[in-house]
Amino acid sequence: IRKRKIDTNLLATNILKGDRVALSQAITLVESTLKSDNFTARKLLEQIMPHTGKSLRVGITGVPGVGKSTFIEAFGEELINKGKKIAVLAIDPSSQRTRGSILGDKTRMETLANNPNAYIRPSAAGSSLGGLHARTRETMLLCEAAGYDVILIETVGVGQSEVAVSQLVDFFLLLMLAGAGDELQGIKRGIMEMCDGMVITKADSGNQEKAKMAMRQYQNALHMFPPTDKDWSPKVMTASSYEGWGMAEAWQLICEFTEKMKIDGWFQHNRQEQNKHWMHEWIAQELKQRFYHHPVVADKISGLEQEVMKEVRLPITAANELLEAYEQELKE
Ligand code: GDP
Repeated sequence: IRKRKIDTNLLATNILKGDRVALSQAITLVESTLKSDNFTARKLLEQIMPHTGKSLRVGITGVPGVGKSTFIEAFGEELINKGKKIAVLAIDPSSQRTRGSILGDKTRMETLANNPNAYIRPSAAGSSLGGLHARTRETMLLCEAAGYDVILIETVGVGQSEVAVSQLVDFFLLLMLAGAGDELQGIKRGIMEMCDGMVITKADSGNQEKAKMAMRQYQNALHMFPPTDKDWSPKVMTASSYEGWGMAEAWQLICEFTEKMKIDGWFQHNRQEQNKHWMHEWIAQELKQRFYHHPVVADKISGLEQEVMKEVRLPITAANELLEAYEQELKE
């Protein structure tokens, strides 16, 4: 079947007008693994590039059940009431392996999904985590061009994804439960160290005391971390999505952070560093692809794997042999 050729000029124009159908079509293009689509996607991204970068990028993470989607619904509504347009991109690393999903069932964020000022998109399963996030980044840029003021990137806080997501966002928000130790919540120290703010969820009236206590404990824990390059001490707050409070405060914190970081110059610096990071990420992705798809590598690899498994050859020797064979082919 011959695919209809995509007019990137028209698509770009429609995205800039805020056309959701065009936006969805463009995201599908960006997520595609076809070479021809990649080419078109790049052309499109180049075109919209001058219209990107003006949104605020916020990462939201926490273990399954902490209340992410409920929080995002309430938080999103708060932002929309303040006149913002928001996009929610949900990354679910589990969907790569199982095709099942911790995040992605259709009933999530229903109210928000029906709001004309919100755009919700689960991230497609990718072949690798790096590749997945590289595509999420392009999706984010498309949403920015389509006029969304705040981009919320949701991940399941189990560790694989967070480092990559911190390379996508300006502010990293961690959601935590009261009354469960952080070991219990599966939140690694490294994730806590990355956050710019923390919200203790489900702090409903009956749960207030426990939530307040957790807030103090986490605030102390965060103070113990060594200071980073950005001059900011992460704050912990409480919220109840059920009772609908804490959202305005969370937004205020994000605004305070942004303002300070812009004055300090760290905001721009961080984005520049992120851009550089993604260039290297694409190089790594592409090199890997080219290497594994090369006939000489494909030809030799399973034999070498066997030898390595049987311990008749060192993994490093086998790897070098493949790399040298590959480089040799490139020279010819
Ligand atoms: P996620 O897996 O992190 O996205 O969590 P969900 O948003 O799906 O919430 C997990 C469970 O906690 C659901 O049963 C929610 O109804 C419940 N929940 C979410 N927010 C609150 C809250 O503010 N108070 C209470 N009591 N329950 C909540």
